[in-house]
Amino acid sequence: MGIASINPATGEKIKVFEALTDTAVAAKLNLAQAGFERFRHTSFSERAGWFKAAAQILEDKQEDFGRLMTLEMGKTLASAIAEAKKCAWVCRYYAEHAAEFLTDTFAETDASQSFIRYQPLGVLLAVMPWNFPFWQVFRFAAPSLMAGNVALLKHASNVPQCALAIEEIFQQAGFPEGVFQTLLIGADKVAGLMADDRIKAATLTGSEAAGSSLAAAAGKQIKKVVLELGGSDPFIVLESADLDAAVATAVTARMLNNGQSCIAAKRFILADAIADDFQNRLKEKFQALKLGDPMEASTDIGPLATPDILHDIDQQVRACLDKGAIAMVGGKADPTQLPANLRQGNFYPPTLLTDIPPGTPADNEEFFGPVALAFRVSNLDAAIKLANATPLGLGASAWTADPAESDRLINEIEAGAVFINGMVKSDPRIPFGGVKRSGYGRELGIQGIHEFVNLKTVWIK
Ligand code: NAP
Repeated sequence: MGIASINPATGEKIKVFEALTDTAVAAKLNLAQAGFERFRHTSFSERAGWFKAAAQILEDKQEDFGRLMTLEMGKTLASAIAEAKKCAWVCRYYAEHAAEFLTDTFAETDASQSFIRYQPLGVLLAVMPWNFPFWQVFRFAAPSLMAGNVALLKHASNVPQCALAIEEIFQQAGFPEGVFQTLLIGADKVAGLMADDRIKAATLTGSEAAGSSLAAAAGKQIKKVVLELGGSDPFIVLESADLDAAVATAVTARMLNNGQSCIAAKRFILADAIADDFQNRLKEKFQALKLGDPMEASTDIGPLATPDILHDIDQQVRACLDKGAIAMVGGKADPTQLPANLRQGNFYPPTLLTDIPPGTPADNEEFFGPVALAFRVSNLDAAIKLANATPLGLGASAWTADPAESDRLINEIEAGAVFINGMVKSDPRIPFGGVKRSGYGRELGIQGIHEFVNLKTVWIK
């Protein structure tokens, strides 16, 4: 497919881009290296000024950026505009807090003075996915650049216009040359880049396969990597839960971003006592969602980002149905229900699968689309056991009014985050990341800014 903008709602090819030549990539690497030598000596307040300018641009042009995201990857326009605003938030957050997060940390030792000084590493490579095409980039860039690093972005090949727009935001905000550059290159070039001495570390958000490949290339060179990979997050509802709130949140938590979010609730683990009621209510709410043109304000669910994703989710659902699962709603794409201009789009309907037997992809695969998988359990032990029965461990949402249950869920769920009576979300003020095959390292919070710095120990007699 190469590097191209293709409207996922219509299948229309909008623009095709030539990948950069190796010579052009080398020139950008040189520019990044030279940029770092200067940028590392800028002050926190100078960097904060540039990030505040970037935040202003994001807010002023939120509609334009929103349209671009929707055009390239199909999220609803309202959610795309909200994404642009959230990027402004993370820019301002680190503009305001980076100096405090990176101030020398003193420790009592046998020295007359000993402390940790936080210093930037250099040129960082960011390999990013299409699903939150602005947010994923800014949540990496704001802390990393505030710490004095510089960045090269290899964005997903289906969002090149977003990638270029983001580069332009950094230019317009006044960041010095070489501090943030977009590389329009294919995934096959990433391992080679990791072998380049000028690149000091990397971060990747995406699939397990991509993460494993990048980590292997980085491992050969002994370079640091942060990996934000997939999730198959449980959404546990116990008998004591506020069912109205749980059902309403379940819809958002599953359908966010047309179902294509790493932290979407994917497996609904329901106490027997409330399972029928919960499933019936979820079915009703799914039936009421409008599938259609993501540019239209009345649309709840837009298309999946690529035909491959549509193919994969269709195969996964079919495999479950073939083994005896029941589709209470959805279960099959039906283009005839769509207006003629959208029939070539990658649309899949909101789907609720119940009675899923063991031995299907629901056991261990991520369902990256608007498909909820419902399971019943007889008690808390069974709920926790099922929640942990996945190779992934990104987030978990659990609903209960009982503090003792809540404590056990917090302690025993194997995930990077547990949200009690709320949906899993990212927030600049708290760290974000996974365990198990969901990756390692953290973004956001104070922890996020510490990932790409040299924690230099200083000891003075
Ligand atoms: P993907 O195929 O892994 O693509 C993500 C990025 O990695 C793209 O830039 C892609 O480039 C690149 N890439 C692919 N294969 C690579 C390789 N072998 N070596 C180096 N780079 C490679 O991921 P996706 O399927 O588009 O994205 C969805 C996945 O991302 C889901 O699993 C989702 O859960 C995960 N995700 C995780 C988080 C998180 O914070 N944990 C957030 C969002 C998404 P090309 O586009 O050129 O192939």
